Amino acid sequence: MVVVMESHATEAQIESVIARLKELGFSTHRSTGVTRTVIGAIGDKTGLDERDLQVMDGVHEVVRISEPYKLVSRTFRSESTVIKIKGVEIGGEKVVVMAGPCSVESRDQIMAIAECVSKAGATVLRGGAFKPRSSPYSFQGMGEEGLRLLREAADRFGMLVVTEVMDRSQIPLITEYTDIFQTGARNMQNFNLLRDLGKARKPVFLKRGMAATIEEWLMAAEYVMSEGNHQVMLCERGIRTFETYTRNTLDISAIPVVHKLSHLPVIADPSHGTGIRDKVLPMARAAVAAGADGVMIEVHNDPPHALSDGAQALLPEQFEELMRELRIIVPALNRTI
Ligand code: PEP
Ligand code: MN
Repeated sequence: MVVVMESHATEAQIESVIARLKELGFSTHRSTGVTRTVIGAIGDKTGLDERDLQVMDGVHEVVRISEPYKLVSRTFRSESTVIKIKGVEIGGEKVVVMAGPCSVESRDQIMAIAECVSKAGATVLRGGAFKPRSSPYSFQGMGEEGLRLLREAADRFGMLVVTEVMDRSQIPLITEYTDIFQTGARNMQNFNLLRDLGKARKPVFLKRGMAATIEEWLMAAEYVMSEGNHQVMLCERGIRTFETYTRNTLDISAIPVVHKLSHLPVIADPSHGTGIRDKVLPMARAAVAAGADGVMIEVHNDPPHALSDGAQALLPEQFEELMRELRIIVPALNRTI
C-alpha cells in the first residue's frame, strides 16, 4: 500500500501518518520527492479500511497494491482449481454443460427435460426447488418434493444436480439431494449463508450479484473459502446496466478478468444474462470462446407454460443446436466438451 501525501502536507501530518501505520503493524518507507512525500507500507492489510488513512490530515491518496482477497487469488494458488464431483471435472480441460428448467414443476416435466439435455451432452442437471422470485405472488418452487424429483431425474440419466439454496436453514435438507449448492444473484452478499456454505462439504456455485463488482464477487467467494470449503465455482449471470433490450448485460469480459485474478472455475449463464431465448445461443458461444469453463442453460419442454423464466428457456431442439455449435468451437480452444 502507498500513501501519497498532499504537496502542502506538514512534517507533523507526515509523521502522524507514519506513526498510525506503525501502530497498525506496517513497516514503512518514506520517500520525499520534489513536491510530495510518498509513504510505502508493507504488512497485513486484511482488516484495514483504507478510508481510515484517507481521512487523515495531509493525505492525498491511498493506493492498495495487493488484492483484498487471498484464498481466491492466483497469487495464493497459481494453478487453476479443478473441482471433481463423481467423475465430472469442473475447471479442467472439458467444458461442462449444466442445463435444465428454471424451476422443477412436476415429475413429467423434469424427467422429459433431463432426458433431452443429457442425451444432448449436459452432465449437470439444474432446477430450482426454492425460488428467489422478485414477486412474493410468483411461483416459489416445489420445495423438498422438487429436490426429490430433481435427484431422481439426475440419477436416472447419470447426471449431477445443482440447485439453489436461499437460506442457511435449508442447507441440511438440500445437502441430502444436491451435488452442488447454487447461491443466487440476490444472495451473493448473504454473508451468513456464505459462511455456512463454507462449512458444508459440497461445492458451491456462486452467482454474481446483479450489481456486484468483480471484486465484491471474489470477496463473496473468499467468505466461503475462508471457512474451509475451497470448492467454489463462479457464475457470471449478467449484471444490471442502463440497457433495456436485454434482461441483464452478460459481462463476458468478466470471464478473462476473473481467470487472471483467480484460480477458480468460471461458468457463464447466458439465460439469465440475456433473459431472451434467441439471445442465449450467441452469448453461450461467446462465453465459451472467451474461456468459460462451462455454461448453465435453462431448457424447457413447454416454455409458454413454464412457471418461471419461460421467455429465456431454450426448446429441446435449440439446446441440441447449441451443443452442436459448442462442439465446433471448443476444439479451437484446445478443450473438449
Ligand atoms: C436461477 O438460476 O434460476 C436464478 C434465479 O438465477 P439468478 O440468481 O442468477 O437470478
Ligand atoms: Mn431462472
